[in-house]
Amino acid sequence: MPYCPPPQHPSLAASDPGLLAAVAAGQARLTPEQALDLFRRMDLMDLGAWADARCRAVHGDRVRTYVIDRNINYTNICTARCTFCAFRRDGDEADAYTLSHAALLDKVAELVSIGGTQILMQGGMNPALPLEWYTDLLRAIKSRFPRVHVHGFSPPEFIEFVRFFDPPGATLEDKVRWVMLRLRDAGLDSVPGGGGEIFAPAVRRKIGLGKCDAEAWLTTMYVAHSLGMFTSATMMFGHIEGHADRVHHMELVRRWQDRALGGAAAGDGGRAGPEGRPAHGHYVSFIAWPFQRENTPLGRLRDWGADPSELGRAFPGDVVSRIDGSGTKEADPEFGRRVRMSGSTDYLRTQALSRLYLDNIYSIGASWVTMGPHIGQVALAFGASDMGSVMMEENVVSSAGTTYCLDEAVICRLIRGAGFTPAQRDNVYDVLRIHDGPDSPDLAVTDWSRHRVKQLHMQSPRQKVPLTVRSSPSREPATAP
Ligand code: SF4
Repeated sequence: MPYCPPPQHPSLAASDPGLLAAVAAGQARLTPEQALDLFRRMDLMDLGAWADARCRAVHGDRVRTYVIDRNINYTNICTARCTFCAFRRDGDEADAYTLSHAALLDKVAELVSIGGTQILMQGGMNPALPLEWYTDLLRAIKSRFPRVHVHGFSPPEFIEFVRFFDPPGATLEDKVRWVMLRLRDAGLDSVPGGGGEIFAPAVRRKIGLGKCDAEAWLTTMYVAHSLGMFTSATMMFGHIEGHADRVHHMELVRRWQDRALGGAAAGDGGRAGPEGRPAHGHYVSFIAWPFQRENTPLGRLRDWGADPSELGRAFPGDVVSRIDGSGTKEADPEFGRRVRMSGSTDYLRTQALSRLYLDNIYSIGASWVTMGPHIGQVALAFGASDMGSVMMEENVVSSAGTTYCLDEAVICRLIRGAGFTPAQRDNVYDVLRIHDGPDSPDLAVTDWSRHRVKQLHMQSPRQKVPLTVRSSPSREPATAP
């Protein structure tokens, strides 16, 4: 049956229980205006309850998932200068790095040794690396580890690949497809949704210096879908943007997802999708996380409201933002000079709204890496169905001050503590193992003192830390050499 999005009912109030029940059941779709109204006015717990109802309609009452993967940042040299980034370096800086193929293969081997199934590989955008550097690497990974799924190279990287490699093609879409086909044929399996940030041009121009615009980001994902790939979408919020910008961002994701699910993107090379899902590619997940400020230029901006003269005035981001993304910085001279950081409540509201708004996206991820394990756990009652990755390594967010790291037992315990059965999934969200027996990673633990939140393994020439995913007595930790 052809895909048909649920109908919208713009004449109904956002808080109309009949409308929200239909949204939760997947039989109605929120308009952008209704979404903004819900975000601004609905009680936190009510918003969470509706998001939870939608989540249960999609995923059932029993299982919530996680994945074991490794986030590998192959280089920190980058042509862009995002103001929220503490990770990038110029090529001539002392701590600039590009990992060798041998080092990257060692990291994949470590992942495989502890039962991992996927690598998430993203970098800075390094103009010194030729196309062959990527294709040779992908072939080497696939030849040694054919079962490891390579989730790699976010849309901004692809747009820079087009600039670096100057591929043939009349349009940006043609050029991206030329590059992506070569990477796919060498072993790339799917494209991560990094670099989404906030799509509204006024915000993006302020925070994403040198990074592609929303049209290029969405076009890259459209190409990935047309090649049969499953992708994710992301949003980084809680900085200079207005609330309407968040809704506009979700609207663009939802609209392009309609296009993918409608089959417009079904094209050459479409690989068979998992049972019950379309064979052509599409966004399979959405995750939103709040901006982390440490060590970043954006984080040095003054907090909105710190000056008493600002109290009672509207936040500049809200003055500028328009639900259709058409806001301009001229609307408020303070726009981009103040930040409104996100706390737990704002995070949960935003995530709950994303579950209700993105009716055509399968999974909503909880961002415990930035919010901490216990808000991540609470997020499972606010529309999230997935706890993301048992995080072996992460460098980008960590550079901005976030260092949460959980092993598999703790993730399972958090999921179970929220009232669900933990299950390990693969990258397309098919369940690999449901942990309902006494040998489950958490149920096998007798001494929780060994399972503290740990420091992440970060890429550093000076630092080596133990690399652990499982550390129950029956499953001793794998330790990096
Ligand atoms: S966020 Fe990514 S693209 Fe932006 S400066 Fe940092 S490494 Fe480069």
